[in-house]
Amino acid sequence: MLGLGGWWRRQILERERARVDAATWERLFARLPLLAGLSEGESRELRDLALLFLRDKTLEEARGLRLDADRRLAIALQACLPVLHLGLDWYRGWYAVIVYPEEFVPEREWVDEDGLVWVEEEAKSGEAWERGPVILSWADVEAGGVRDGYNVVVHELAHKLDMLDGAANGHPPLHAGMSDADWARVFTSAYEDMVERTDRGEETPIDPYAAESPAEFFAVMSEAFFELPHLLAAEYPEVYDQLRAFYRQDPAARLAPVVIEPAATWPSG
Ligand SMILES: [Zn+2]
Repeated sequence: MLGLGGWWRRQILERERARVDAATWERLFARLPLLAGLSEGESRELRDLALLFLRDKTLEEARGLRLDADRRLAIALQACLPVLHLGLDWYRGWYAVIVYPEEFVPEREWVDEDGLVWVEEEAKSGEAWERGPVILSWADVEAGGVRDGYNVVVHELAHKLDMLDGAANGHPPLHAGMSDADWARVFTSAYEDMVERTDRGEETPIDPYAAESPAEFFAVMSEAFFELPHLLAAEYPEVYDQLRAFYRQDPAARLAPVVIEPAATWPSG
C-alpha cells in the first residue's frame, strides 16, 4: 500500500481519520448511490482508501474551480471504488488529478505526416494521461451522483488501470488465475457487437461511446459495472464475469436494479 508498511499506514490513517467526522461520511455516501450496499467493512476500507488517495495524489483546481473538503472526498471515494479490493498500489506511477469547473478543451496540438499543425478542439469531460495526470470536469463529476451508467471518475481511473501495463488497450494486467485469452475473447466479441449495433444506429442501453475503441469499451463497461451492474450482466454477461474477477467485487449482488431509458446524448471522455 503506497510502498508503506502496515505500521506507517496505521499511523497516517489515525491522523487522517480524525479530520473527517461521521456526519460528513454519511452525507457523502448518501450523495453517491453507487456506494450503496457496501458492507460495514468495505465502507470503512473505502473511507480509508479515500483518505490515503488524497494524501498520495494532489487535486489541482483549474480555471477558478474551488475544491472544498466535501468535493475532494467525493472524488476520492469514487476513485477508490474500483480498487477497493485491489489496493491503492494499482494507482502507482502518477500523482495529480486536475479538476476543471466544466468540460474542457485540451490545449494540445500535433503535426501530421504532411507537416500540418492540428489543434484538438473537442470538449472533454475527462482524460487520463499515460504516466501523467487524470483530468476531470467537476460538472461531470457531479453528474455521477445518479446511477445512470455515466461516471467520469470511474471511467478515467479505469483507463489508469488499463495503462498499468502500457498504452490503454482495454486489457489491464490480470490477476493470477485469470486468463488473458479469455479476457481477449470476451472483450473482443462484445466490442465488435457494440460497434455493429452503433453502426446500424441502434440506441444501445450502454453508452455507445464504448464503440470508440477497445480502451473506451473497457472504461465504459467499468462505469456500467459499478453503476448499472444488472444491465451489464444482461447485455454482456461474460464481460460482467471478467470484470467481477478483475475488480474482485460483485456490484449486482449489493445494488438494487435500476431501469433506465437510453440517453439521447452522452458526454465523451
Ligand atoms: Zn475514455
